[in-house]
Amino acid sequence: MEKKVQQKYLRKIFLGFINIHILRHANKKPFFGSWLMEHLEKHGYKVSPGMVYPMLHKMEEEGVLKTEKIKEDDGKIRIYYGITETGKKILEEAEKQVIELSKNLKK
Ligand SMILES: [Zn+2]
Repeated sequence: MEKKVQQKYLRKIFLGFINIHILRHANKKPFFGSWLMEHLEKHGYKVSPGMVYPMLHKMEEEGVLKTEKIKEDDGKIRIYYGITETGKKILEEAEKQVIELSKNLKK
């Protein structure tokens, strides 16, 4: 397989994992964009603002995330991303499938 095709395909798979990761965090506690970026980097994902922010916007448009503007103690207003009811249902289903997939990978 051509290298470019490989990278493109891996990126597609990787984006799906990041989507699940984002939903999991939104489900635990709303977060803001720069927190998420740092967090994903800690997990070893190479991400940039040009990738993360459009992704969050898209997830909001699709109705899996919702935003809330919160004023921090320092007076700065931050946009927090939380999960929607639809997002919760999707996360539940996606987690089932990831568990199923990992069982298969062990065989
Ligand atoms: Zn995480």
